Amino acid sequence: MKTVVIKPGREKFAARRHPWIFSGALAEVEANPGIGETVDVLNAHGGFLARGAYSPESQIRVRVWSWDPEEKINPDFMRARLQRAIALRDVTSAGENALRLVHAESDHLPGLIVDRYDDTLVIQVLSAGIERWRNVLVDLLSELTTAKCIYERSDAEVRVLEGLEPRKGLLVGSDLALPLQIAENDLKFHVDIAHGHKTGFYLDQRVNRNRVRALARGREVLDCFSYSAGFAINALAGGAAKVTAVDSSAGALALAKENLALNGFSEQMMDCIEGDVFKVLRRMRDQARAFDMIVLDPPKFAPTAAQAQRAARGYKDINLLALKLLRPGGLLVTFSCSGGVKADLFQKIVAGAAEDAQVNAQIVEQLHQAPDHPIGLHFPEGAYLKGFIIHVLG
Ligand code: SAH
Repeated sequence: MKTVVIKPGREKFAARRHPWIFSGALAEVEANPGIGETVDVLNAHGGFLARGAYSPESQIRVRVWSWDPEEKINPDFMRARLQRAIALRDVTSAGENALRLVHAESDHLPGLIVDRYDDTLVIQVLSAGIERWRNVLVDLLSELTTAKCIYERSDAEVRVLEGLEPRKGLLVGSDLALPLQIAENDLKFHVDIAHGHKTGFYLDQRVNRNRVRALARGREVLDCFSYSAGFAINALAGGAAKVTAVDSSAGALALAKENLALNGFSEQMMDCIEGDVFKVLRRMRDQARAFDMIVLDPPKFAPTAAQAQRAARGYKDINLLALKLLRPGGLLVTFSCSGGVKADLFQKIVAGAAEDAQVNAQIVEQLHQAPDHPIGLHFPEGAYLKGFIIHVLG
């Protein structure tokens, strides 16, 4: 086994059980390990700290597989980790037709995402270590699930940081009929696993979409950053009077219209606006438009803490505009999926927006990612999605 040696004073990650070891923490790397090769991580005195996958090009130079010196990293190890992740979903998400089976670091498989859409799996290989074990993992997923097809969507930008080329396509199965159709909260959605965002659908919002459904009765709802209209269609199912979906992607809005029809709603129930939410909200303000519920689910403005400042301005801007567009008694359902913006900072941003909008408001619910997206206890980065339901007082 090749080894890497940690600089004296940089062993803290081990005490914290954090799975990432940054390049700056390494004093020595023995014998040039290859992409994803298993290495032992030693302290300056040669003591074992961890066993992980080496990634020569990434700032995250080693991702830890195991803290146990006895544990071998082999196909049986991968099988046990996959089985554990799948067993959790049998507890938290039994009966779901579309769900995340493996959530990377938080399921102790750093860099592996596996989403199940009915009987198709979509995998994302996002780290050098997973890349090395890819074929084994795909075989095991075939064996451990009843999936008929496995599709790869390893075209996320983070692969570049790992020195890996983008890759996508069908790995297992032959008769993949696209778009796939899934059921979520008893509603039907088309999922474009080949071209859609992430693996095709924002599964992390399942529970929150259900909350919107429960609160939407009789309301005029504005769904900003709608993608394929998951929130808007849940609102309609909950008895919303009318919904408006806004997204900058024409493809997303085309899917939104398909989803509207799939669920038996007429075209008049949903207005679709293709445009930049920042501009659309300003225009609506100038036109003195008003809504009873607004959903803000923007893309990641700040992947890391370093970008938090700039991201804060973006969040404040849209939240301020949305609060102004709400009628008294209205509900703002606002999210941040930026790893760099923690929940307390996000709350401060929204509070600042309310102050500037001169509205009196209160938090009635705090929202998180769905339980099939667990958070590694030692991996705070896993808690990326946070949201609030804000009630605007009269
Ligand atoms: N709410 C969605 C997921 C939203 S993902 C759901 O439940 O499925 C973020 C969406 O924002 C993407 O669809 C992306 O196309 C869109 N987007 C990104 N920047 C935008 C902008 N400035 N204005 C409008 N839409 C934007």
